[in-house]
Amino acid sequence: MKAIGEKEMVDFLSGGDDARLYSLADEKRQTVFGDEVYLRGIIEFSNVCHKDCQYCGLRVSNRGVKRYRLHPDDIVRAADLVAGEGLGTIVLQSGDDFGYDAIEIGSVIERIKQRHDVAVTLSLGDRSLDEYAYWRDCGADRCLLKVETGHVKLYERFRCGESFKERLYRLEGIKRLGYEVGSGIIVGLPDTDLFDLMRDLLLLEQLDLDMIAVGPFVPNPDTPLANAGQGGLDQAFRAAALMRLLCPQANIPATSALDAISPGARMTGLKKGCNVIMPSFTPDQFKTDYAIYPGKNTSEMTVQAKLRHVRTSISDMGFVPSSAKGFSPRREYVEQGSARCPAGDHACGKAQCR
Ligand code: SAH
Ligand code: SF4
Repeated sequence: MKAIGEKEMVDFLSGGDDARLYSLADEKRQTVFGDEVYLRGIIEFSNVCHKDCQYCGLRVSNRGVKRYRLHPDDIVRAADLVAGEGLGTIVLQSGDDFGYDAIEIGSVIERIKQRHDVAVTLSLGDRSLDEYAYWRDCGADRCLLKVETGHVKLYERFRCGESFKERLYRLEGIKRLGYEVGSGIIVGLPDTDLFDLMRDLLLLEQLDLDMIAVGPFVPNPDTPLANAGQGGLDQAFRAAALMRLLCPQANIPATSALDAISPGARMTGLKKGCNVIMPSFTPDQFKTDYAIYPGKNTSEMTVQAKLRHVRTSISDMGFVPSSAKGFSPRREYVEQGSARCPAGDHACGKAQCR
């Protein structure tokens, strides 16, 4: 039986009963993850990108960005810092930057895995499946590749002719390689409405994901979408809460785009179904150049101070900031050949799911 019907989804997305939606989502998150909030340290190691996505400040046509590329040794050093602070997952993210070949990235993954008992997540965009296969052999555990929008025409327009089919094909290929897989959407892209959003959420449900990111659109003044309206905060919260109801066992981050729209909103997301926070560990001299949208990485605090603040805020909300690797509990059942947890919505609590 479906967790929630389409009519109910539309009602919730229109703000029909926020109190009930958030309370259901919070209850579901609590059942699966308890009080734990997983922390992932993200290293945005290059802002070089050969793509031209209309929504993103790193697009190749944006000449106003000071481009940087971290040396592999510096990426490993940043990873040392994440692990040294006791975080269980390192996320390596960049623009679609072919300046690093597969072997260079592979060696960074191997070095991190040799030095630390952490999960490594890749968010590198449209690299080939051969490369993703190689990186899996090097020890990478997870992969993020957002569909951004399930509206094919808009996808192809906003990503300047990229093929939606190819993105899905790549996502399915990554899944077959044995990665834990994440995807997601940008909520409130121009020319989308509430029904598009509902269809997007159902698409994400169908994709059977381990991680799902649904963050609001934040217009960037240096892009062709500069004058578009920003994604609604409530819409993004409702979308995340609905995702929790549709996919109870997925890891759902409270995205940094929430904070860009309204400082503090990321923490509020934890009460609305989200269970992951991803503090940036990008070295201070580069972090503001990772200018995907305004308000990204603008905190003047050091990495350590920021992390302390995040941990305190999580504790103040009654949650436990967790150092666990934080695999999605559904993995165990996927590995046993069944896509769904036989126990329903309950976290199994076994070591390999932590
Ligand atoms: N280059 C890789 C990963 C880095 S981009 C890729 O594109 O997959 C990381 C994410 O930033 C994208 O997936 C997109 O969802 C998000 N993003 C880009 N521009 C944005 C904007 N203006 N508002 C909100 N999210 C944005
Ligand atoms: Fe490049 Fe990713 Fe930004 Fe697109 S969203 S321009 S691929 S960094």
